[in-house]
Amino acid sequence: MSEQRKSAIIASPYYPSELYGRNVFTLKDMANALPKSVFASFLRQMRGRQTLDKATSDAVAHAVRIWAMDRGATHFSHWFQPQTDTTAEKHDAFLALKNTSFLGEGVHAIDTFHGSELLQSEPDASSFPSGGMRTTFEARGYTIWDTTSPMFIQPHANGTAVLYIPSVFISYNGDALDEKTVLLRSSEAVSRTACTLLNLLDPAPPGHPCIVNQVFTTLGTEQEFFLVDRALYALRPDLKICGRSLIGNLPPRHQQLEDHYFGKLPSRVLSAISEVELELYKLGVPLKTRHNEVAPAQFEVAPIFEEAVLAVDHNLLTMDAIHKVAHRHKLKALFHEKPFAGINGSGKHCNWSLSTDRGENLLDPTEKPETNYRFLLFLVAVLHAVHKHGGLLRAGISSASNDHRLGANEAPPGIISVFLGEHLTEVLRSIEESRPIKNFSRPEIQTIKLGGRVLDVKVSTLPNIARDLTDRNRTSPFAFTGNKFEFRAVGSKQSPSFPVTLLNTAIASSLSDVAAALREQMGDRPYPTDADKLAVIKKFIVSSKPVCFEGDNYSDSWVVEAEKRGLLNIRNAPDAFEQLQDATNRDMLLQQKVFNDSELQSRYHILHERYAKDVLIEVGTLLSMINTMVLPAAFEYRKSLAETCASLVAIGSKDMPERTILDELAPAITALQRDVTKLEEVSKEVEAIEEASVKSHAACERLLPLMDAIRANADFLEHRVPDKTWAIPKYTELLFTS
Ligand code: ADP
Ligand code: MG
Repeated sequence: MSEQRKSAIIASPYYPSELYGRNVFTLKDMANALPKSVFASFLRQMRGRQTLDKATSDAVAHAVRIWAMDRGATHFSHWFQPQTDTTAEKHDAFLALKNTSFLGEGVHAIDTFHGSELLQSEPDASSFPSGGMRTTFEARGYTIWDTTSPMFIQPHANGTAVLYIPSVFISYNGDALDEKTVLLRSSEAVSRTACTLLNLLDPAPPGHPCIVNQVFTTLGTEQEFFLVDRALYALRPDLKICGRSLIGNLPPRHQQLEDHYFGKLPSRVLSAISEVELELYKLGVPLKTRHNEVAPAQFEVAPIFEEAVLAVDHNLLTMDAIHKVAHRHKLKALFHEKPFAGINGSGKHCNWSLSTDRGENLLDPTEKPETNYRFLLFLVAVLHAVHKHGGLLRAGISSASNDHRLGANEAPPGIISVFLGEHLTEVLRSIEESRPIKNFSRPEIQTIKLGGRVLDVKVSTLPNIARDLTDRNRTSPFAFTGNKFEFRAVGSKQSPSFPVTLLNTAIASSLSDVAAALREQMGDRPYPTDADKLAVIKKFIVSSKPVCFEGDNYSDSWVVEAEKRGLLNIRNAPDAFEQLQDATNRDMLLQQKVFNDSELQSRYHILHERYAKDVLIEVGTLLSMINTMVLPAAFEYRKSLAETCASLVAIGSKDMPERTILDELAPAITALQRDVTKLEEVSKEVEAIEEASVKSHAACERLLPLMDAIRANADFLEHRVPDKTWAIPKYTELLFTS
C-alpha cells in the first residue's frame, strides 16, 4: 500500500491484490502457524484424501482458531451445500466453560476448538431435502470438512466474524445429501479417465511414473442478475415470494434500442458492485469483469476461472455477497432466470475445460488443431458425451424458473447441441472426408483487417488484432469458445454444481469410451500411431455428428432438423427430470461411481418435488395478488366510472367516453374471477397428489396454462386502471429506477 493511496479518500487503502485472500486461511497461513512436521503430515493426508489423524486435526484446529479469533471470529460453522441451490450453516461459539472448582477457582470461560469439531459436525438434518433417503427417525446427517477447499472468515458490520469450514454433507450411511460430494466424485472420475487416455497416448517408459497424474476440471461462471430498487421490490409480493413478477406489462421502451448492454453502469449499481468485489477479493474470489447486460436493470459479473469445486464455492459466495451488499445500497438482487416476462432472462454461463497437473489446457486447439491429435481426441470425447447424454445435461439445468427462459426466443432452447465454429468444423469435416483441410491457419487471416471484408485499408494508428479461432454463436446452449466450452443453458439462480457434475461424469464416461476404442485400434502395438489416433477421432466424429449445429438455435427450422437428427427437444422440466431414469444415463452415472442407486432415486424425487412446490407457491402468490390487489383496484375504478356515468346521465350529458372503458372492464374482470376460482380448485387437486413426479407433471400441465390466462387479463387491467389506484409497482418503475 502506498502512502499516497493511504492519504487519498478511497473506499479501501489497499490495492485489490493486497486484499486478495485476506479472509482466507490459506496453506501458507497454515504452514506459518504449524510445526513443519505437522504441516507436512496435513499435506500428506489431504493429498491422499485420508481422514486427518487426531494430532494433526487438533493442531490445525488450534491454528485456525487463533488466526480467526485474531480477526474477530467468535463462532465457527461448517458451511455446506444441501440440494436447495444455496448454502447452509449453523454457528457454534468457540466459548466453553471449564470447571476448575477442585482448584478452588470455580468456573472459567475459555475459548476452544477441537480437531473433532473441525472435522465433522452433526446437524439435525431432517429438515433438508433428502428425497426419501432419510426417514425422520434416521435423521442424522454429517458435515465433514472438505480439506481441498480453504476455510475463511466473514466479518459482520459490528466487527465480529464467523469462521466457515467448507464441508460435504452426507447421511448416516454415507450417501450424498448435498451438491458437493457428487461434484467431488465427478471431478475424480474425469481425472481418472482423462489420465488413462493421456497415459495411453504418451506412456511413461517402463519403471517410470506416469507423466500426468491428475486432470482438473476448470470452471468460470458468468453470473447474470437484476438489481431493482428495494422499496419498490417490497411492494411486490410476487418478487418477494417467487423472485419473479407473475403479472405486469413491458414498458414501451425496454431493450429494443440495445442501449443497455455494455452501457454505463448506473452509479448506485457501480457503487454496490465495486463493494461486492472488495468483499470477494478478501475471500479469495477472483472477480474479473462487470458490465450491463441486455435488459434494463440487468448486470453480469464473471471471475477468473478456477478448479471447478472451488469455483462453485466461489460462485455461491458471489451470489451471497451480491445479495448482502445490494441490501446495504437499498437495492434488491434478483437471481431468478426470468424476473420480467418479455425481456432478456438471466443465465449462468459455465465456462468449462480440462487442465493437466502441469497446467496444460487439454481443450486448447493450438496453432494447428488438425494435427493436434490429443486435442482432437478430447474434443470428440466432449461431442460424444453431449450427443449421448444431451438429455441428462438438459435435466441438470431444469427447474420451474429456468423453464421460463429455456425455449423462449432469447435463450438457448431445450435442444442440446454443440457449436464448434467454422474452423474446427472444417477440421472435423476434413478428417471425416479424408481430405486435406482448407487452409485456415495462414497467418494473414489470423488478424482482422480493419477495413472489413471489402475494403483493403488499414488505420495506421490502430494495431492489427489477433483473431480467435472461433466466432461467436450466442444462440448455442453449448459452444466452443476458443479453448473451452461454454455451457450457456445453466440457470442464473441454480448452483452450478449439479450441471457440472453431470457434464463431468458424461465426459468421464466418454473419455473411457475413447480410450477403449484407441486400445482396440492399437491391437498389439505398445503405442498408438498417428493413424490409430486419426481412425478413432474419425469414428467419433461420424457418430456424434448429429449433435453439432452451427446455425441459429432459435429458428423453427432447427426444431424440425433436430428431430430428424434424433436429438431430444425437451420442453419442460418435469419431462427433463425423467432423463435421470433413462437407462443409458442411469447406467453411466452408476458406472462412473458418481451416484449410487438411492442417491439417484432421491435426486429424481427431490427435483420433481421442488418443481411442484415452486409452481404451487407461485399459484398461491398469484391468487392472493389477484384477490387482494388486482380485483379490488379494478372494482374501485369500475365503481368510480359507474358513478361518473350515473352522474352524467343525471345531468343529461350525451357524450360518455367513460362508458366505453366501463364496458371493456367487465369481461376482463369476469374472466379473471372465473379463472381464479378454477385455479383455486385445480391447485387443490394438484396439492393433494402424493407421488412427486405425478405432482410435478400435473403442476406443469394443469396450472401453468391457467396462470397464463390470469396474467393476460390482469395485464389488460393494468393498462386500464389509473396509476393511483394500482398498488403494484410496474415494470417501468422497477426497471428504470436503479
Ligand atoms: P467470453 O464469454 O466473452 O469469452 P471470457 O473470455 O472473459 O468471456 O471468459 C468467460 C469466462 O470463461 C471467465 O470466467 C473466464 O475465466 C472463463 N475461462 C477462460 N478460460 C477458461 C478455461 N480454460 N476453463 C474454464 N473457464 C475458463
Ligand atoms: Mg461468455
